[in-house]
Amino acid sequence: MELKKCRDCKTLFQYNSGPVYCSRCKLNHESVIRDIKDYLYDYPNTDIKTLSEELNINPKLIEDFIRAGRIELTADSPIKLVCDVCGIRITQGRVCDDCQQKTASSIIEAGEGYGKDSKSSPVRMHRRQQ
Ligand SMILES: [Zn+2]
Ligand SMILES: [Zn+2]
Repeated sequence: MELKKCRDCKTLFQYNSGPVYCSRCKLNHESVIRDIKDYLYDYPNTDIKTLSEELNINPKLIEDFIRAGRIELTADSPIKLVCDVCGIRITQGRVCDDCQQKTASSIIEAGEGYGKDSKSSPVRMHRRQQ
């Protein structure tokens, strides 16, 4: 177990796995997610900005929920997520399935090869500024 800082309330907590939020915030998020889902049910064409204003939720948090797959987007939703690596449209996560497989193996390589002379060249990551 390791201590991590909750991304929401910034307190240190015992981190297990998954999103970096303390148990109190996770509990709180459950009701927030319900609110967002309710709102999207009534108004499916709502973007993150409107959601955050209407429900008074940090837009980054909303994006986190979507990326974590907690909130599903409809095909015509104005909320657009793109793969961090190749830029293709995705509905959850940070990268598309293809890139996820590639980055997963490159992270393992980078972790193991760090500090040693690694034969494989590092995979270049293109981070798009939104
Ligand atoms: Zn917290
Ligand atoms: Zn991709």
